[in-house]
Amino acid sequence: MNKKTLLIHGGKTTDEFTGAVTTPIYQTSTYEQDEIGELRQGYEYSRTANPTRTALESLITDLEHGTSGYAFGSGMAAISAVIMLLDKGDHILVNSDVYGGTYRALTKVFTRFGIEFDFINTTDVSKIKDSIKPETKMIFIETPSNPLLQITDIQAVSNLAKQHDLLTVIDNTFMTPYFQNPLDFGADIVVHSATKYLGGHSDVVSGLVVTANEDLGERIGFIQNSTGGILGPQDSYLLTRGIKTLGIRLEQINKNVKDIVQLLNNHDAVVKTIHPLNEDHVNRDIHLQQASGYPGIISFEVSDVEKAKEVIRHTKLFTLAESLGAVESLISVPSLMTHASIPAEIRHKEGIADGMIRLSVGIEDTEDLVADLEHALNQI
Ligand SMILES: *Cc1c(COP(=O)(O)O)cnc(C)c1O
Repeated sequence: MNKKTLLIHGGKTTDEFTGAVTTPIYQTSTYEQDEIGELRQGYEYSRTANPTRTALESLITDLEHGTSGYAFGSGMAAISAVIMLLDKGDHILVNSDVYGGTYRALTKVFTRFGIEFDFINTTDVSKIKDSIKPETKMIFIETPSNPLLQITDIQAVSNLAKQHDLLTVIDNTFMTPYFQNPLDFGADIVVHSATKYLGGHSDVVSGLVVTANEDLGERIGFIQNSTGGILGPQDSYLLTRGIKTLGIRLEQINKNVKDIVQLLNNHDAVVKTIHPLNEDHVNRDIHLQQASGYPGIISFEVSDVEKAKEVIRHTKLFTLAESLGAVESLISVPSLMTHASIPAEIRHKEGIADGMIRLSVGIEDTEDLVADLEHALNQI
């Protein structure tokens, strides 16, 4: 089945009990038992399983080519569940410009439970190899990363990880299964902030985990049920609904991105444009091997943070907000917003300039977006 078809027909999203074409919102916490322990359809209590969530979990499992899928109340709850696979004293290697919330959870929460980590540049696989310690158990990577869109070779990392008996975890939020399937390249686990492209309408916060094998699936399922960070039935319904249009949304976003990158590349006020559409983007060839489309995120630099604020004040169609991946275009300044929790010194070393602007391109008309941004850039 091709991707656009799988988005509609993947998983079991027709209601198996009534035949309803869309799985209804099963707004229930518990289920009647015929005799003690005799469950009618396998459902006992909604932390453990709920049919609306099950429909979503079966869909994401198919979309990511995995064996088991789990839905959580946020991307961070999903990522936290994956980190909980580890024991005290275990060590994780993480890409250095990882999402700020992941950085915060590791450095402020999981560190108190004895989990150790190093943030490294993962674009060069030999650097990862040199950073592996006896305690290392997991490599956690976003590709492309946020906001620098750094590309890591998923196949090469997975091969290295297998040699050292490590788990490879890919945060696939940016590409989504429509454009990139990390499990096909040997990764063990995929995580998503489904709040972003999968949901796609800025109306639900959610996270997903998909595993490459049953054993890992059972372990994640056990953690999900034990620690309870599940997605509720209303949000599971909304997310399933959002996923159906993922393909056509991403096609329009890719169309818009091409013209916007071209504008930025040619505008005098722009110091630098960061996007894998550009020939000089590091590891561009690797991105094209492991993904079938481009990220909807574009980062670019203007001369300083004041100029960046000016641009934001003058755009009308790009809404000033955190988050990304929805139908409406968003604009933000990472150094002041999403990445403010990363110390300035580290931020600068990584290449997140104070005057950097991040766009999350939406599905509006291409010409309108280009004209709006061009107008704003002309004002500085
Ligand atoms: C937003 C985001 C997260 C966190 O997800 P929430 O749904 O906000 O908890 C994790 N990783 C990436 C790449 C993100 O963009």
